[in-house]
Amino acid sequence: MVKRMIVKIDENKCTGCGKCVAPCAEGAIKIINGKAKVVSEELCDGMGFCLGICPEGAISVEERYTVEFNREKAEAQPRKKDISIHCFTCGAGEDTSYLLPLRHNMQSLWVCTHCLPKLIHG
Ligand code: SF4
Ligand SMILES: [Zn+2]
Repeated sequence: MVKRMIVKIDENKCTGCGKCVAPCAEGAIKIINGKAKVVSEELCDGMGFCLGICPEGAISVEERYTVEFNREKAEAQPRKKDISIHCFTCGAGEDTSYLLPLRHNMQSLWVCTHCLPKLIHG
């Protein structure tokens, strides 16, 4: 056991929408009985990429004792493609563009790196 950062999901806030599942590149999150769960703590690197994606604010990152992150196992997880992930401005998907999570007007959106500068600079 090591003390490190790891994702925590608040079941009371989670609606089970599943938006956090595909963006977790390590495959650490699954929907079980209608709630998101970190199914294997050794697959969660605690980077918290999923935080901004959750529309309910159900995900946080905490520091606590858990198993060490297993990079080889995480990298061996099957990659999940989610067609709902696309740039909200131009519609580009993850096959062709780099996409970043974005919060705007209480919504969790994705934006591509081509459209992001226009949002920043107007
Ligand atoms: S994105 Fe948030 S509300 Fe949706 S399943 Fe994941 S933790 Fe639950
Ligand atoms: Zn775009």
